[in-house]
Amino acid sequence: MPKQIKKVAITGGTHGNELTGVYLINKFKKNPTLVKRDSFETIFMHTNVGAMHQCTRYVDKDLNRAFIKNDLCNSEKYTYEDILAKNINEKLGPKGAIKTNVDFIVDLHSTTSDMGLSLVIDNDNNLTWQVAAYLKEMVPNLHVFRWRGDTKEVSFVNSITKEGFAIEVGPIPQGVLRADLFFETEKLIGHILDFFEKLNTSKLEKRYKNIEIFDHIKLVDFPRGEDGELNATVHPNLQDNGYYKLSKGDPLFITLDGEIINYEEDEKMYALFINEAAYYEKGFAMCLTKKENIKL
Ligand SMILES: [Zn+2]
Repeated sequence: MPKQIKKVAITGGTHGNELTGVYLINKFKKNPTLVKRDSFETIFMHTNVGAMHQCTRYVDKDLNRAFIKNDLCNSEKYTYEDILAKNINEKLGPKGAIKTNVDFIVDLHSTTSDMGLSLVIDNDNNLTWQVAAYLKEMVPNLHVFRWRGDTKEVSFVNSITKEGFAIEVGPIPQGVLRADLFFETEKLIGHILDFFEKLNTSKLEKRYKNIEIFDHIKLVDFPRGEDGELNATVHPNLQDNGYYKLSKGDPLFITLDGEIINYEEDEKMYALFINEAAYYEKGFAMCLTKKENIKL
């Protein structure tokens, strides 16, 4: 673990219709004392102002998949989000540098699926996991999801720095500000900043040795016809039921004629990001995970 954290970035509005992050950044910018800690600096950034103004996920393409190292220095990439990604990378990164301009990025998201309060972690760096374990102790209902859905390179905003993660909270419809999860997310951010303050002032009481996580196994798409249209949707058992435990034979989807399609894997898995609105276009209805206790 590094001895000192000097600069943390809290980013929001990466998806312009996810208002929890948008309004938390507004609040912190107006009341910086709420998040002030003496031993390091925290900066707040709305990452996709164009999408925020439209209240859409993005303008041209998903900003949270735009941070591929080669693309960031490719002058032929010039969509709205490509240019944003280059600017953000310059301010916070650059990605892959030994010394980035900020040490840790927390990117704020919300989801239409019932994820409660979740961390989405895509790196193996120890500091990231120590923060996660600390948060899990402070906020017992927090879920930790390890994302392994990228075959080559993680291209999330928080992948600019080696250490960091995204926060996903839900269920929240797109374009809606929901009070309970707004305040829970604010509290969670407070704990993150407290962790760094304790780290910097040698007040952390322990080094965490393990953590319970939901480990990414695979993405599952809706049953679709040849035209790509949905033939079925998520079975009501899973709807609004995040981290649903699936056993062989459990209903998974229901066709529009009412026929049930079952889960056929031998292994028990937990479903999350169930029926997330933004993932229809990406081609998945849920993510299947295994619950594991991993060593840190
Ligand atoms: Zn998002």
